[in-house]
Amino acid sequence: MNFELSPDQKAMIAAAEQFAMDKIAPGYQAREKAAGLDRVLLKEMGQLGFIAPEQSEAFGGSEVSYLTSGLIMEALSGADFNMAYVQLLGSLNTQILVRYASTALAEKWIPKICRGEAVLGVALTEPGGGSDAANLQLRATKVEGGYILNGEKASISAVDQADIMIVFARTGEKDSRAKGVSAFLVEMNSKGVTSARYEGMGQHAVGHGSIFFEDAFVPDAHRLGDENKAFTQVMEGFDFSRALIGLQCLAVARQSLKESWKYASEREAFGAPISVNQGVTFPLAEAETMLEAARLLCYKTLWLKDNNQPHTTEAAMCKWWPPKLAFEIVHQCLLTHGFGGYTSDYPFEQRLRDVLGLQIGDGTANIMKMIIARQKLGEVQ
Ligand SMILES: Cc1cc2nc3c(=O)[nH]c(=O)nc-3n(C[C@H](O)[C@H](O)[C@H](O)COP(=O)(O)OP(=O)(O)OC[C@H]3O[C@@H](n4cnc5c(N)ncnc54)[C@H](O)[C@@H]3O)c2cc1C
Repeated sequence: MNFELSPDQKAMIAAAEQFAMDKIAPGYQAREKAAGLDRVLLKEMGQLGFIAPEQSEAFGGSEVSYLTSGLIMEALSGADFNMAYVQLLGSLNTQILVRYASTALAEKWIPKICRGEAVLGVALTEPGGGSDAANLQLRATKVEGGYILNGEKASISAVDQADIMIVFARTGEKDSRAKGVSAFLVEMNSKGVTSARYEGMGQHAVGHGSIFFEDAFVPDAHRLGDENKAFTQVMEGFDFSRALIGLQCLAVARQSLKESWKYASEREAFGAPISVNQGVTFPLAEAETMLEAARLLCYKTLWLKDNNQPHTTEAAMCKWWPPKLAFEIVHQCLLTHGFGGYTSDYPFEQRLRDVLGLQIGDGTANIMKMIIARQKLGEVQ
């Protein structure tokens, strides 16, 4: 087992960290107030090769390993969890386009996404529920040359910022569940497509909300994969993004811990730095221990993917534990900063609200534990 990073990986991470700290970190709180991603910065991120970096050079990517993509995610997310979302959405969704979009569609959109010129989201959840995703009801009716979409998607990330959206819709019978779902690439400025942002707790720069489809026409060429097969074909890519989500959340915890060690060594109480108290340092030491374990889990999952080995169980582990752990660590770091931590003079209260969302987004902990249990029970059958 070799934990040493290659010179190329080290160089890429150093460049990503430099860019993240110099360019992204200073605007983290301002972008929350503005409730939007910075499209100029996104283009810079793209030019430097930080969006969907694992994509092939032919599509504008850097052809780095999945593990390297995860390391870049960490570098960016520690500075701004929301801007890092674009890396997440880019990596998750471009791999779907590569596999299931027509060549013309893939060539049109993937380079734009990698360059930071277009944002691509994914719309699966509906008002009626997200965990039981196979029960989705948004209807795609076949017509001459394409499909007509009617219905609503709920709690979709980047709802009013995405240029295009991968939309899951029912093409089979009403009760066909997973066997009657197809996926489509929808341009968000299409006729019949509107959106509404929710008032929410965090991730305001990304934003979440509903997308409404009223007789929205989508051409045949925009269907991704086979009709009625989206559930088995298109959704398999979610294992990759689960490891990225783990690292996205842990990076916020890592940055918070770094700041907390410094603060603990500078802040004085009872005539001495608060770091002389084990009651202050032991929770941080415990957090460092668990952070390290959780990062290694995510790295291993990406390594498995790089080596074409099964990683569904590990990916589900990355999706339930690291987001929860990150929340707990940021909470501890906020407390370490006393009253200041509770104010927006520091970024902890925003970080806490931001990372919490990914205990729900992309599937709750219970759903991830169901996946792990199913995989493990399958091994003993
Ligand atoms: C920050 C954020 C970002 C998101 N981004 C997107 C996006 O980009 N695209 C998208 O399509 N969706 C997105 N979502 C939606 C998200 O995927 C769903 O909210 C999630 O899958 C859960 O669905 P639900 O909210 O309808 O909860 P429900 O399915 O109604 O579940 C409610 C509760 O019951 C539990 N539960 C349900 N069934 C079971 C069971 N069988 N066993 C045990 N417990 C169960 C759940 O764990 C949950 O705690 C996002 C959500 C958030 C918060």
